[in-house]
Amino acid sequence: MLKKEYALDGFKRVPFIDPVRAVHGVLIDAAAPAVPACDQRTVPGVMSQRACAYYGARWFLAPLKQAIHLVHGPVSCAYYGETVRKKKYTVFSTDLSEKEVIFGGEAKLLQNLLEIGERFPDTKAILIYVTCAPGFTGDNVERACRNAEQATGIRCVPVNCPGFLGYHQATGHEIGAQVLLDHFIGRDDKAEAGSYDINILGEYDVMGDYKVIKALLGRMGINVVSALTADATVDNLARAHRVRLNVIHCRRTGGPMAEKMRQKYGIPHVKVSFFGVAQTSTALRQIGARLNLQEAAERVIAEEEAMVAADLERYRWELSGKRVGLFFGGSRIGSMQNCYRELGIEVLAAGSQFGGKDDYRDAWSTMKPGAALVDDTNEEEVLRFIRQYRPDVIAGGMREKWIAHKFGIPFTVFPQESGPYAGYFGFRNLARDILVALKAPVWQIVRGESETDAGSTS
Ligand code: SF4
Repeated sequence: MLKKEYALDGFKRVPFIDPVRAVHGVLIDAAAPAVPACDQRTVPGVMSQRACAYYGARWFLAPLKQAIHLVHGPVSCAYYGETVRKKKYTVFSTDLSEKEVIFGGEAKLLQNLLEIGERFPDTKAILIYVTCAPGFTGDNVERACRNAEQATGIRCVPVNCPGFLGYHQATGHEIGAQVLLDHFIGRDDKAEAGSYDINILGEYDVMGDYKVIKALLGRMGINVVSALTADATVDNLARAHRVRLNVIHCRRTGGPMAEKMRQKYGIPHVKVSFFGVAQTSTALRQIGARLNLQEAAERVIAEEEAMVAADLERYRWELSGKRVGLFFGGSRIGSMQNCYRELGIEVLAAGSQFGGKDDYRDAWSTMKPGAALVDDTNEEEVLRFIRQYRPDVIAGGMREKWIAHKFGIPFTVFPQESGPYAGYFGFRNLARDILVALKAPVWQIVRGESETDAGSTS
């Protein structure tokens, strides 16, 4: 059990993090359990890789269908929020300029909402993302929304997410979740719950992950009413309060919402992971147990495990003993570590941009003594990690990818770009991607060159 909140004097320091950020990293030590300082503002002067609250709201809400997404701010905010998880979405912008910053942008916002009402009369809602500029000037967005609703009959919902709120993008996730709870979930009073209806909270269908999960659950006879926000629509959210169970996939984005739905609608929830064979089978068993579908769960598990067993055995043979550094966004640092361990890969370090205490506790419990757990990792620290540990492979986002490549370290991108990682065959995809990255002949050549470079710059 973790007794102490944060690393304190006397705790083993992570060698590759900046001394001014010492409390933001811990070396796993069963005798001195602690998690990194987290949910705090980035240390001034450190070039963080975090995103703003507005982008966090876009991350959460971008897939919502049957709605127009209007970014109230300079056009560059809209451009920034157009691409989410490497997928482009249609966004509109009020294109605020100097004039509106000085005299106010409410009139322009109202004009934009009325124009959307004329051009898209069939849309069921308009989400208005409030960015930094109107956050500073104090535009009365609620009044503009009320007036536009009266004129157009379309629901206009402010998403109050100026970039300066909070310390990182998770603030935007929470704002987005609250918007769905307040304005979308539970609006259909006549909806009835089927015996095997569930929601999945915190699932975003990266490269088809949700389709894999939905198919597995479908074979057990389970119906997903809404996956938030992978397939969220205004219509299915209206019925999302009539389900038997909320399944949380990403704790950081789905957990608080599940708890609020439990309090408001009495819906129980369960936290699972669909990454890795062991975790996917556990997830199906847990969900099956909650819905009295144990036999169906065992049938699906037996069929799926048998189909991937031979391939995974080969991948384990190839990958066992390799060493990895993981640098993810938030709450997947624990569950993804289990996947790497299932393949026999040692996790040297795990970093997160915006993980919370629960995420770090989860990760801590899965890590071996001596491994490093770090909050808000920056580029310089990843570079030092590579020099000090020389991992066989790194997994993370695009920011870490180029540093790893520069020093001859194979890299796999997460969230992934090659196909689903969820479920049994998704896990095989993950193992394949790691092996392909490791075996590429180019790395031997690049590593040979960069060894010299690394030595001359250290
Ligand atoms: S920090 Fe502010 S100005 Fe920058 S993208 Fe985010 S909302 Fe827009």
